Amino acid sequence: MSCFDSIFVRCPKCGEQIEFQSKSGDCRMKEMSLARCVHTQDKAIFGVADTVEECPKCGTKVKVFVNFTAFAEEFEEDDEEDEE
Ligand SMILES: [Zn+2]
Repeated sequence: MSCFDSIFVRCPKCGEQIEFQSKSGDCRMKEMSLARCVHTQDKAIFGVADTVEECPKCGTKVKVFVNFTAFAEEFEEDDEEDEE
């Protein structure tokens, strides 16, 4: 049995909710909006990145674009020396 999370995206043309299924992340059969998925940084987002679904109402093809950032910063080792 396959399991997946459902992410709902609003059709940019007619406003209908379009279901995208993600097999990334926890896959606990969650249902959430795209905005919530982004807000909670749910890994399910990676399962729908660059995927295309067709709006069930107007037939518009809708693709999910995901932008994510990565950064690096100075890392200081916590090596406190006991100086007497
Ligand atoms: Zn539509």
